[in-house]
Amino acid sequence: MIADAVTNVGGDLVEVTALMGPGVDPHLYKASAGDLTAMMAADVIFFNGLHLEGKLTEVLEQTEKKGIRTHAVTESIPPESFIRLEGAEDPHVWFDVILWMQVVMRTRDVLAEVDPTHGERYEENAAAYMEELIELNGYVRDQAERVPEGQRVLITAHDAFHYFGRAYGFEVRGLQGISTATEAGTADVKELSEFIATQKIPAIFVESSVPKRNIEAVRAAVKARGFEVEIGGELYSDAMGDPGTPEGTYIGMVRHNIDTIVKGLHGEGPSRDD
Ligand SMILES: [Zn+2]
Repeated sequence: MIADAVTNVGGDLVEVTALMGPGVDPHLYKASAGDLTAMMAADVIFFNGLHLEGKLTEVLEQTEKKGIRTHAVTESIPPESFIRLEGAEDPHVWFDVILWMQVVMRTRDVLAEVDPTHGERYEENAAAYMEELIELNGYVRDQAERVPEGQRVLITAHDAFHYFGRAYGFEVRGLQGISTATEAGTADVKELSEFIATQKIPAIFVESSVPKRNIEAVRAAVKARGFEVEIGGELYSDAMGDPGTPEGTYIGMVRHNIDTIVKGLHGEGPSRDD
């Protein structure tokens, strides 16, 4: 998502290397020797921060020591906008498109600081991209409203969707916490399956960067309680889809997610997609 923001703002003025590709879980990601070489050769390193890249801290300290500009994109968001869970700030800010727009604006400023001769170009690119993001935000809001209010409950493999829930009016529950580094226990499966069976939640969702077995276990536990919950489809939580597919961009990923959620939770009314 970060590489996509930098690419949109930088256009052909920057060469962007994304270290974490499709399906890669940033909570567990460790830099390979090749990744380290790429980082050491960079003009700027953008990362999410708020401990999303939990195993990258030492590497980032090294690159910073070497004098490479290192920028945590969540620094562009005012602290009062952060959701706090489990005593920590939730790092999954990209699911609130309005918050992500602040990341894009700050990306523009960082690129202009590093490469001031092209400041105007970065400004133009960012302005054009921001218009697309405003439209995207409206799309997500409109689609979310198709799910009747009482049915707006989103259950996924890990707690990645709280910003989404706050921005677009969904109650959100993840089987694992805000980091996948802690495994879900049997008590978590029991509690969540009880909730699903009692509330008769129609669908739960797997995530592209998290193994599916945990959500399958929840489904089986719900079935044992005499209720059938569907797997509503696959959401892109902490990684985008394959390059060259619509889901390989931030905008495409966000659209895919809301479309999948609305379908799984039996959204009503005609799709307002054009
Ligand atoms: Zn996550």
